[in-house]
Amino acid sequence: MSKTILITGATGQLGKATIDFLLKKGATPASISALVRDPAKAEDLKAKGIQLKLGDYNDYASLLAAFEGTDKLLLISGNDLANRAEQQANAVNAAREAGVKHIIYTSFFRKNESAHSPIYIVAKSHMETEKAVKASGIPYTIMLNSLYADILPMFMGEKVLETGVFLPAGDGKASYTTRQDMAEAAANILSTEGHENKSYIVANDATYTLYDVARILGELTGKKISNINPAAEVYIDTLSKAGVPVEYVGMFAGFSEAIKQGEFDTSASDLEKLIGRKPTSLKEYFASVYTS
Ligand code: NAP
Repeated sequence: MSKTILITGATGQLGKATIDFLLKKGATPASISALVRDPAKAEDLKAKGIQLKLGDYNDYASLLAAFEGTDKLLLISGNDLANRAEQQANAVNAAREAGVKHIIYTSFFRKNESAHSPIYIVAKSHMETEKAVKASGIPYTIMLNSLYADILPMFMGEKVLETGVFLPAGDGKASYTTRQDMAEAAANILSTEGHENKSYIVANDATYTLYDVARILGELTGKKISNINPAAEVYIDTLSKAGVPVEYVGMFAGFSEAIKQGEFDTSASDLEKLIGRKPTSLKEYFASVYTS
């Protein structure tokens, strides 16, 4: 009998993409369950034959009931940064009580684990969940996911091709990695053996500065696009005056500073081995966003 797989965050982009890769790789819909808060957001999953399980990271009983009978659990990190350490502890505890046999957690690649990290609020909850996963006694796999290439269009804004790249990240390099590649890696970990008690760095095989980003956008569009690289104060002031909500300004500025400090600059990666091919380059990814 094939192993039963449960994906949390299944109404999100990484969760849906992982389910699609599982199906493409031959998993039967009946072997896959999806934890969802709102079934209305999961009509597409239901139509594919995926079993929906109602659950919320804040509600332990719902998680326990949902995880019953699960062999492999993909715990996709939540996006409520202030509360997710406790939420994910609920998920890990429920997995242990339900007898889950393997838990895979989508964590975050980082170098600076101190409170001085410009993205400490992100790193702290991931570190706490990793600790809980390892302490649970359940065989585990930690995916140390690098920065999504997919966040660059959001960080750079809709007018990037007219106004240039406007982020205070200096010449920091980062291994921007597509969400699709990460989803394929997760699907492969879920559908093959030998990943127990391992941590994988899920990062691209190349690193890019925002000067590279501007150059690549220029090559793809035939336009001259510069990297303005403003000072952090100028960046914060400009976004605030443009009416961007303060929490977004703080988040974008924090990530920019982290990129500047080389937080996501890694030449080590397990991604190529996990997906059996070269990761998608930033140019290939941008071609799908800016030229299609
Ligand atoms: P996403 O599209 O925002 O999906 C997040 C998923 O988490 C959604 O399905 C959401 O459910 C679910 N969720 C949130 N709070 C929950 C709760 N209390 N109980 C149950 N489910 C809950 O994000 P994504 O693109 O798939 O990325 C997955 C995760 O990676 C994110 O949540 C975040 O932690 C992390 N991330 C990483 C990067 C990176 O650069 N590496 C960038 C962005 C995010 P609903 O649909 O009901 O809201």
